[in-house]
Amino acid sequence: MSGPGTQRIEALEAIIVDLPLVREQRFAALDARSQSMVLLVLRSQDGIEGVGEASLPSGPWWGGESVESIKANVDGYLAPLVIGEDAFAVDSIMRKLDDAVHGNSFAKAGIEMALLDIQGKALEQPVYNLLGGKARDSLPVAWPLATGDASAEIDEAREKLDKRLHNIFKLKMGAMDPEADVERACRVARELEGAAKVRCDPNGRWDETTASWALPRLVEAGVDLIEQPLQRWNLEGCARLTRHCPIAHMLDESVCSLQDMQRVAELRAGSLISLKIMKTGGMRRTKTLSEMALAAGIPIYMGTFLESSYGTGANMQFCATLRDLPYGGELSGPLLVAESITEQDPEYRDFELHLQPGTGLGMSIDPEKLAAFRRDRDYSLHAVQR
Ligand SMILES: [Mg+2]
Repeated sequence: MSGPGTQRIEALEAIIVDLPLVREQRFAALDARSQSMVLLVLRSQDGIEGVGEASLPSGPWWGGESVESIKANVDGYLAPLVIGEDAFAVDSIMRKLDDAVHGNSFAKAGIEMALLDIQGKALEQPVYNLLGGKARDSLPVAWPLATGDASAEIDEAREKLDKRLHNIFKLKMGAMDPEADVERACRVARELEGAAKVRCDPNGRWDETTASWALPRLVEAGVDLIEQPLQRWNLEGCARLTRHCPIAHMLDESVCSLQDMQRVAELRAGSLISLKIMKTGGMRRTKTLSEMALAAGIPIYMGTFLESSYGTGANMQFCATLRDLPYGGELSGPLLVAESITEQDPEYRDFELHLQPGTGLGMSIDPEKLAAFRRDRDYSLHAVQR
């Protein structure tokens, strides 16, 4: 028995993909030259293929999961719970996965994404219509400045401005000595004043004293948003900082689960929340988290883990359902990754990413490109650990 209301999952394959970056990306924890992700390819009894992408910002430093752990846990523990289930029973499937496997939000989010892709294709609807419907067609996209060299970063920003790709820039910080790092950020902010917005993200590498010292300097230079300066666990410190922060204090690492969001709302620990489908374990739960933030009067932002062209299209389906994003977002992965794995190219123009037409997630994997970049075909480029 088949039909749009029943799409029994017959196969699930987890494929590790390694894509080179256009330039080195200096995160607080490591320097990366490639970006890896796991594609979760599900097939229903009607032959409908749904694909999810579990992407990580170059290894386990951010969330604890790695592409290798995702593949191992999917193959060994999660896939057997999905095989035989109806792709439309996504609530009960995700509940089963949560009961059987603690954490692993990236792996679970990738599976949920593939289930929604199958649902959308079976119903001939875009996934945003399964998540509440479309509220926007495009997203203003910030570009990461992450080489650590202020002069090169100013040139990079000017080039993006000239091409009308980005007029919001986010400095990845936390890898350098805070004094040099703040000086670098202030220089970039002053240089781009009036032409672009400049934001800072130390990825939780500062203590309260450093953050309290840095904040007035960054504000004075024109920085309009600071993201997660303090360690993710220090919510009381985040709340103290928020009280004295005249610009947006965005929490990212501190808000992964719904319970995190509840605690942040109680403490008023931040004034903006970065949403990421992977860290919260799927689009549906991220939607709930966004509603909790908005109900507490805290605005939201669309974050990224530097997804491929595929994952970015998927993120844009989710993002299309978010009406109010006062600071925009940063779905910039495909511009930082040197290779695409999809048949379609994401459309960036006039400083925004535009929603793709089509059913499901609106993107399809190019089989030849996948064959070239899947790790088990012996093509790999590894991030260099410092
Ligand atoms: Mg962040």
